[in-house]
Amino acid sequence: MTGEPWSTGFARGADGVVSVAGVDVHTLAATHGTPAYVLDEADLRSRARSYRRAFETAFAEIGAGVDVYYAGKAFLSVAVARWVHEEGLRVDTATGGELAVALRAGIPGADIGLHGNNKSDDEIARALEAGVGRIIVDSLVEIDRVADAASVDHPAPVMVRVTTGVHAGGHEYISTAHEDQKFGLSIAVPSHFHYGDLVLGSAEADSPAMQGLLKVLSRPELKLLGIHSHIGSQILDPSGFEVAARAVLTLRAELAKKTGVLVEEIDLGGGYGIAYLPGEVALDPDRIAKDIASSVASSAHDLGTPLPRFSIEPGRAIVGPAGMTLYTVGTVKPVRVDKASVRTYVSIDGGMSDNIRPALYGAQYHAELVGRLSDEPTVLARVVGKHCESGDIVVHEVQVPSDVRAGDLLAVAATGAYGRSMASNYNHVPRPPVVSVADGQSRVLVRRETEDDLLALDQG
Ligand SMILES: *Cc1c(COP(=O)(O)O)cnc(C)c1O
Repeated sequence: MTGEPWSTGFARGADGVVSVAGVDVHTLAATHGTPAYVLDEADLRSRARSYRRAFETAFAEIGAGVDVYYAGKAFLSVAVARWVHEEGLRVDTATGGELAVALRAGIPGADIGLHGNNKSDDEIARALEAGVGRIIVDSLVEIDRVADAASVDHPAPVMVRVTTGVHAGGHEYISTAHEDQKFGLSIAVPSHFHYGDLVLGSAEADSPAMQGLLKVLSRPELKLLGIHSHIGSQILDPSGFEVAARAVLTLRAELAKKTGVLVEEIDLGGGYGIAYLPGEVALDPDRIAKDIASSVASSAHDLGTPLPRFSIEPGRAIVGPAGMTLYTVGTVKPVRVDKASVRTYVSIDGGMSDNIRPALYGAQYHAELVGRLSDEPTVLARVVGKHCESGDIVVHEVQVPSDVRAGDLLAVAATGAYGRSMASNYNHVPRPPVVSVADGQSRVLVRRETEDDLLALDQG
């Protein structure tokens, strides 16, 4: 929304000390220790509201309804599930564990979705028992598995996840005719091709996606809600959504022609991009909602089909910018990179166990000293963790004051999504707490893990 990666409650005082929602970082560090994830509640709630309002408004203008599901995998705790639900969002889960958190938060089953490409029988049974509003099925095998667990009297509400050949993320999207990834059922018709002496597929065959939809319709234990498509993450170019939506609406029209069944709902997935670095501009929910709405309206018009209800599933865009990670600097080491340059390695008290994204995806982050003022010139630094791995890098390149030293508080911006949720215990490091701040108060949402927690798992 702005060009800043920090939450809206982030403010630097005249003394250089940063506070978030009125709580200064020294108080946060003294109360909760470091490293700690700090979540700005008002910021998170306002992003949830913005997405819901933007899509409701834009889709109302084309005469369609829309539901916003918060993608819980980005970060889910009982409090966060409640906040987003209070702001009018539903909650998507992808495992039994995420489902358990949503249920403990008191989210009604009808407002919960269950994803996953390999749900266990137990996960399916628990979802049905909870009365989830939808199970997104991912393969032909799974369609039977869910149908077998449901009954004709209580049919399971399902959506079929399809892949459209559109892959998006970063600034551009690519569109391919084929799919080589684990999720969903492809809408591309398998063409006539040779494999040794075998001839597989034919031009007349149904696409895997169509086969999945027909299979759902053939099982009376299932209620076909609609079609689901998720094209990627950290998307900053709206055209990928539009191309994918058109492909899904076309599939819906083809199914109607074949069977007379016009499914009621289309889910367009998540992936709305945020700012990680200063100067980066996040997708604006009002603009993207308008773009998608006008594009689906014209697609449906071209196809001659009435508009379905829509749903979207933002995760990162709701929680990512609301969070930062607060660390304490432990060591500072200048390393000569070549004749002309030196890089300052700044080691913090966490690392790849609390933020795996730089190591996993080469993700870029921004860091600042937040505990004091410095008038010193800046130096090129690399923020690294405490793990036994040279790839344990949290921020590849950032300018920090040259007097950076042990004891300094350093914050990394926009770590609310896929930080704690992807955290590990590598090197037997206990995972940091998630602390929320609002109106000058902090509170622990998820407590810090202890060595006792870890040792309790070890059966000797
Ligand atoms: C990961 C995921 C999302 C959320 O993606 P964000 O980039 O966090 O918005 C939504 N839907 C599905 C199916 C996903 O796998």
